[in-house]
Amino acid sequence: MSGRTGRTTPPALPGVHVPTSLSEALQILRREPNLPIWAGATWWMDKGLSASSLLSLQALPELKRVVRSDLRVDIGAAVPVARLREAGHRYLPELLMTTLDRQGPPPVRNMATLGGAISLPEGILPVSLVLQLLDARVELRRAGSSRWSAINAMHRIPGEILTRIRIPLKHRTHWMLHQFGNAYPLTSPSMTVAATARVDKNGLAGLHCGLLIRGTHLIRLREAEAELVGRQLPLTERDQRILLSALREQASYIREMDDLGRWRAISTLKQFLRRLG
Ligand SMILES: Cc1cc2nc3c(=O)[nH]c(=O)nc-3n(C[C@H](O)[C@H](O)[C@H](O)COP(=O)(O)OP(=O)(O)OC[C@H]3O[C@@H](n4cnc5c(N)ncnc54)[C@H](O)[C@@H]3O)c2cc1C
Repeated sequence: MSGRTGRTTPPALPGVHVPTSLSEALQILRREPNLPIWAGATWWMDKGLSASSLLSLQALPELKRVVRSDLRVDIGAAVPVARLREAGHRYLPELLMTTLDRQGPPPVRNMATLGGAISLPEGILPVSLVLQLLDARVELRRAGSSRWSAINAMHRIPGEILTRIRIPLKHRTHWMLHQFGNAYPLTSPSMTVAATARVDKNGLAGLHCGLLIRGTHLIRLREAEAELVGRQLPLTERDQRILLSALREQASYIREMDDLGRWRAISTLKQFLRRLG
């Protein structure tokens, strides 16, 4: 005879580690450095998780905090994108908020974390480009040690967890974000052009711009940006050419983009430079 008792027990999941403190998580990874890390799990679910063992970051309070001072904000790597957007709407740079709003449909944004978004093993999302333009840095920890790294130089070694993303809260007067095509899946034909700048009474006080092509090729124009800082506004055609020529010389611009993509990249950047003053 079979029947229901009215109570169910969750299935035992022996391989799923759900630590409740960061030090516990780091100890687990010390023993099993290659354990897959599960944050919001949106990417994992999309790919289909085949591992029988994983480390969940869901119950780690240290990774769910957003701590802000006048100079910067430290975002726990497991803070969901939608929660970050809600908590940070008064102080996060608008460029970042707009990027977060475009990080997939609401169910994905409710689960996806900032740490997960910049840790995808197979490519780069627009939010990574934007965080680089905002001079963000990341903290990586493993049992007994921690280090800070620029996002473009972040090479996570087995046993490490990305724990915090630190964004300096600098004043910026201008920004833009143009997304051509879908940023996800990462293999889609897509391009993101983003920029941020600070203008003061003396002219151009800061400029950061970059492009992301098909989720794989990221272009920064640091030398040209530095050359333009301090120039009077509006920028002359010659000034603008410094940045645009630097872009035209990039290997990814030459090899990875078609004529339409190149035209879009140049005209979008030109438009931004003209808006500065
Ligand atoms: C249907 C769908 C639509 C989407 N649309 C968009 C879109 O329009 N635009 C866009 O930008 N993105 C889009 N995405 C991608 C989405 O932004 C990413 O899946 C998400 O940001 C990954 O975050 P997560 O917390 O879910 O990561 P998870 O899936 O948990 O993990 C992703 C990877 O990061 C690693 N990882 C996660 N956290 C850490 C950590 N703290 N330390 C070390 N490693 C870590 C994991 O091990 C894994 O390799 C979409 C995704 C889906 C499923």
